[in-house]
Amino acid sequence: MGVPTKRVDLWQPYMNLPQGGKVMAEYIWIDGTGGMRCKTMTLPGKVSDVKELKEWNFDGSSTKQAPGHDSDVFLRPCAIFPDPFRGGDNILVLCACYFPDGTPATNNHRHLCEKNMNLAKQHEPWFGLEQEYTLFDSDGQPYGWPKGGFPAPQGPYYCGVGTGKVFARDFIEAHYRACLYAGIKISGINAEVMPAQWEFQVGPCEGIEMGDHLWMARFLLLRIGEEWGITPSFHPKPLTEGEWNGAGCHTNYSTNETRAEGGIKAIHEYIEKLSKRHLQHIEVYGEDNEKRLTGKHETASATTFTAGVSDRGASIRIPRSVDIEGKGYLEDRRPASNIDPYRVCSVMVETTLIL
Ligand code: ADP
Ligand code: MN
Ligand code: MN
Ligand code: MN
Ligand code: MN
Repeated sequence: MGVPTKRVDLWQPYMNLPQGGKVMAEYIWIDGTGGMRCKTMTLPGKVSDVKELKEWNFDGSSTKQAPGHDSDVFLRPCAIFPDPFRGGDNILVLCACYFPDGTPATNNHRHLCEKNMNLAKQHEPWFGLEQEYTLFDSDGQPYGWPKGGFPAPQGPYYCGVGTGKVFARDFIEAHYRACLYAGIKISGINAEVMPAQWEFQVGPCEGIEMGDHLWMARFLLLRIGEEWGITPSFHPKPLTEGEWNGAGCHTNYSTNETRAEGGIKAIHEYIEKLSKRHLQHIEVYGEDNEKRLTGKHETASATTFTAGVSDRGASIRIPRSVDIEGKGYLEDRRPASNIDPYRVCSVMVETTLIL
């Protein structure tokens, strides 16, 4: 199955029409199930700062965020990005959800994250997230896999090149370019170990920006998927039968202490603190993550905490280059692909800098 045919000849003339000076703002938010939603507002003209945007609202009873008898949920604009779909002055607006009384709505983990980032500001926490994900076709099968069968075992697919080794490269390239256009700090992409599984990296980002940029990159992935008939999945273990890798969201983390000369000392101090709060971290490191953290397929076990230099079977890996230079960052390999990055960044800062 290929790209679904869109009648580009019919559609294109409309897309070439001028907008009469108006701007389309796509308000985007996280719903009650951890999925994403969006709707569009016409603005009178170009906007250059998120503060110029109005709050909006939506029917929370249709997104598992509010009961029907009191259904209004408010959308507070948090960050704006150029819109790669509509182009021009049109924008994407990432929002946080609030109940009418001003308390954070269901799944608004940005609220607490921002508080913690403000408390930790002087440490300048940087994050780099490695978002792994799996592509599915409209029949619910991994994209490009033989119908009713399986591809050859894992081996040639990670960073693969060549027919039969790479799946949906055109789609991945489209997403990469859209992220760059939108100003997302995407730092790279690679094909993963399981065929039809990919990774993009976002970062380094400081503080709250990490969650904002990762969520927006996910939105673009889901949205572009519509055009290919592809459903990206963030499930940490999309296939439980057979020897197929799961999907994670490795969290690379540093502060001005770890990045300074001799920062490896601070890295070891952070690891010591992290070892004492393993379960509190696992709690927010993604649903169904225990299906992935088996101790096999380049993962550590969900129940024990380990750390090591260059060890891809550990909970925390110190990259070899960081150990040699004696400063830099650590990699937490435990977070699953379906994490809320606001929660993960928040608990990381809480454990290492606040508590
Ligand atoms: P891996 O070898 O684990 O596959 P990747 O190259 O996929 O690593 O990802 C490494 C990530 O680490 C990138 O997203 C990058 O932005 C991030 N990173 C690099 N330096 C730092 C740093 N000092 N602090 C936080 N993140 C960093
Ligand atoms: Mn209506
Ligand atoms: Mn990686
Ligand atoms: Mn990876
Ligand atoms: Mn990694």
